[in-house]
Order: sequence, then structure tokens, then C-alpha cells
Amino acid sequence: MANSFRCNTYKGNNILDTHDGLWDDLGMRTTLQLPKTLQEAVSFFSDPQKTFDYAVSLRWPTGKVTCPRCDSTEHSFISTRRLWFCKGCKKQFTVKVGTIFEDSALGMDKWMIAVWLIVNCKNGISSYEIARALGITQKSAWFMMHRVRLAMHSKEFVRLGGSGKEVEVDETFIGGAARFMHADKRKVKITERGVKDKAAVLGILERGGQIRASVVPSRRKHELQARVRAHVKAQSAIYTDALMSYQGLNQDFIHKTIDHAESYVDGQVHTNGLENFWSLLKRGLKGTYVNVEPFHLFRYLDEQVFRYNNRTALNDGERFHRVMGLIAGKRLTYEQLTGKGTDSIHHEEAGPGPA
Ligand SMILES: [Zn+2]
Repeated sequence: MANSFRCNTYKGNNILDTHDGLWDDLGMRTTLQLPKTLQEAVSFFSDPQKTFDYAVSLRWPTGKVTCPRCDSTEHSFISTRRLWFCKGCKKQFTVKVGTIFEDSALGMDKWMIAVWLIVNCKNGISSYEIARALGITQKSAWFMMHRVRLAMHSKEFVRLGGSGKEVEVDETFIGGAARFMHADKRKVKITERGVKDKAAVLGILERGGQIRASVVPSRRKHELQARVRAHVKAQSAIYTDALMSYQGLNQDFIHKTIDHAESYVDGQVHTNGLENFWSLLKRGLKGTYVNVEPFHLFRYLDEQVFRYNNRTALNDGERFHRVMGLIAGKRLTYEQLTGKGTDSIHHEEAGPGPA
């Protein structure tokens, strides 16, 4: 099965393969032997009981099952259907309720493999490939992937950099998507923005550390600098290109610029780390996703940022497990995603059961 995917997964980090302690760090209290490769994952998640036990241990790490609707701990478990009847609110709940999987007709076996592939394919994986691999429609696969991206989105509260740390800041344009827009919308977009139909993205990278990337409405000074100040600690060394919008950063940072019209590297002063990230991002967007509507671009950024920030320290199984630890408390409905009702995708296919 593994060979059927056009997916460059990260090579398992053999040095780290032995540190099983990470499972504990991530809140896993179980004796389950968790999969480390796609092949092991397919085998593991084809067992509904194992899948269920795994999901339960993630959902309720302390082992105390509480109703996601009313927090009651008084319930009866209907083992044949793997669901609980809550005595507090008199409603049933499954392990999916209150997570990105809520309301999905797809079985957990399919979800697990979808999550595995999205998290571990270096250049991303298209909804067409997911659809073929799982035997579902492309539309369902597309919806699934956006829900997984929501799990991959992490709200970061810790600022990057600090005294003695080096931070690269750079912008790029992701473009061409306006051709899919309605003519009226396109007109507005193109006249309001200076840069035709391209979306501006700001990246902030701490060398040897983490990256942040977000879509920005423009490259104006207040847009860019507000984000830099929100994400970077004062006194950091900041390297940018010579864009006027960055002028004034030297009030709070050690700001050095490289004029890309003249050269790309001046000793330490360059933004090559971000250039690498942009090329990875664009390779994924062009090669795998082909076209992305501008209003969904941030979701693809979340995906690529997650993989980048978890690229070296984790192996495939750990990366998967980290995302699975982020599924709770997040919901994305088809309507939120598209503005359309769910009739068009609901009941298209059903998983093997409510596992
Ligand atoms: Zn309840």
C-alpha cells in the first residue's frame, strides 16, 4: 500500500526512534504499540478496537470519560456500538464528538490514514490521491484535509528570537488564484490591491528554530511591523530585505537589511532560510494542490508550517501523534468552509461503523 502514494515522506529519524518517552510527553498513557510507518499505521488502524482505544486515550488522557456536551461523568457505555449514553444530558456521544471528526460519516480507520498522509508527506498530498487511497470522493477528501489542517493550526503565544538570536523576516507572493474568481470580485481585488491577483504572505523564521507564516492584506508598514512585533522578542537580530515597510524596526530590534537588488547574502545578513521555506511551500502549492483559492491559502500555510516546525525532531509516528493530540475542541463545518450546505457531501459514503 505504501508504494501507491506519490508522497515523499520524511525518513524516520533513526536516532530518535528509541525515545519512546515522547509518547508520555504527548499525553499518551497506554501500552499500545503505536505505528511508526505508514505500513504499520494501515495495519494498526484496520483494527477497530485498537483504533478506538487509541482515540479514547487521546481524547481523555486521564482515562476519565466525560460528556463533551455537559461534562457529566455519569454515562453508560454501549460497547457494541462504541458509544456512550450520557445520563446528564440524555444524549449519546462518540469519541468523535467535540473533535475535528465530529459529524463525519467516515470511519476512524480512514481518518487515521488521511491524517498520517497529510502530516507526513513533505510536499503535501492532493485530495485526489487521498480519495483514491481511501476509496472516497475527492470532495470528501478535500473536506477531510481542511479539517486536519485546522488541527495542524497552532496558536503560538511564545515569541521567537530574543537577545543574541537571529530572525529572518521576508514576504512572498502566492499568485494567480484570482482567475478562479467571479469577474466582479476579481475587479475589486485587483484594483484594491497593488499586486494584481497575488496574495502577500509574511514569514518570520528564527534561525535554528520555528517559523511563522501568515497571509497579510498588504505589505504596508503597519501590517508587517505589527506582525513582527507580535511574533518576535525585542533585542533580536532581524534580517529583512530593503523594503521601506521595515524601516523603523531598529527601535526595538537589531535590524539589518540586505538589498536584493544588489546581493542576496552579506555575511550573516540574508533571508535564505525563508527562501527555502517559500520554495517548499510553492512546490507544494503548484505541484500538489495545483490551485488554491486565496481565502483558503492560510490553511495550506498552517499545514506547511506545521510540517516545517516538526520536521527534524519527530519521526512520522510522532508527528502523526502530535496532530492527533490537537484534534479536540476544534470544528470546521462544510458550511464554514464553503458557504454551502452539507447536503452535497453528506451520506456519500459511510465508514465501517462508529469506531
Ligand atoms: Zn451529557
